[in-house]
Amino acid sequence: MNNRRLSDIREFSQTLTLLIIEDDELVLNQLKKSFSTLFTNILISNNGFEALDIYYKYHKKHNKFIDIVFTDLNLPIMNGLEFCEKIKLDNEKQIIIATSAYADINNLQKIIDLGIYKFIPKPLNFENLFEIIIKSLEKIKEEQKIIKLHEELTSIKNENIRLFEQASLDKLTGLYNRRYIDDILSKYINCNFSLIFTDIDYFKDINDTYGHRVGDEVLIEFAKILKNHTRSYDIVGRWGGEEFIILLKETDVETTLFITEKLRKTIESHEMPENIKITSSFGIHISNLNKSLEEIIDDADENLYYAKKQGKNRISYNFEIYKEEN
Ligand code: GH3
Ligand code: MG
Ligand code: MG
Ligand code: MG
Repeated sequence: MNNRRLSDIREFSQTLTLLIIEDDELVLNQLKKSFSTLFTNILISNNGFEALDIYYKYHKKHNKFIDIVFTDLNLPIMNGLEFCEKIKLDNEKQIIIATSAYADINNLQKIIDLGIYKFIPKPLNFENLFEIIIKSLEKIKEEQKIIKLHEELTSIKNENIRLFEQASLDKLTGLYNRRYIDDILSKYINCNFSLIFTDIDYFKDINDTYGHRVGDEVLIEFAKILKNHTRSYDIVGRWGGEEFIILLKETDVETTLFITEKLRKTIESHEMPENIKITSSFGIHISNLNKSLEEIIDDADENLYYAKKQGKNRISYNFEIYKEEN
């Protein structure tokens, strides 16, 4: 074994705890001596019953399990197999190295089925044993590294989600904010899409009558309607104040008008907080690949203005009014 590998693993093993269960005092002393070059935390027992107590007391005190268990199978009071069966029930991943002088084939089969790390027959070859311990330590180290990496990755992902939400979502309604919509629009410019602007009618009156807080609640409820009555792949955002924007990708005129009219009617009949009734006006632009982004936005905006001028609670597309009579 090279020295570098040994010193690396020694540094790591000093942080771990080993439990040795062996009823042959001579062997136990040899084991302790041999392992003390790697571990500073060694617990010992000469029977399975006491070892079990040590094992769970350790867990209670440190809130983690003992890292490596080295056990003889032939032990008084409670044998090694029974001990292993019990701890594996609570800690499936427990690394166990088992040893025995005479292996009953049945017991051997059972200990293998339990998923122990290694079985070493007695008399112990200490050099071989040492190598096995080193390998088990490397395995634990690698696993801990993976867990740590995984935790770091999760925390980076969560942070990214938080940053995305902070930068792209409107705080009040949870819809996309203007910055995000601007970004999306510039990406949509070369495809067919419908752009719908909608602005709540007489919204100022709601604030004036019920207060700003209720006004906020109405905005939140309004946003929910837009979200719930569009398709999952449509993009709904808050353009500012009581003005919202909806992007429908690859949607023809009929479907766009159908979706918009459905929204208008839902809003008109919906009971808002404090039983407030509201309406909203809509301006639509259906993409025309020859137009610039500014022209597209202006067109939807001017249509919205036209819908307002024509009496509000209606839809304007190409400066024509759409409104099904109820
Ligand atoms: P119109 O029918 O022509 O659209 O009239 P309006 O009253 O809806 O429009 P106006 O532009 O006169 O008023 C919009 C109001 O929206 C004024 C502003 O205080 C209010 N507003 C903007 N953002 C918020 C907000 O986040 N919360 C609340 N409660 N009110 C807001
Ligand atoms: Mg024994
Ligand atoms: Mg308004
Ligand atoms: Mg407005």
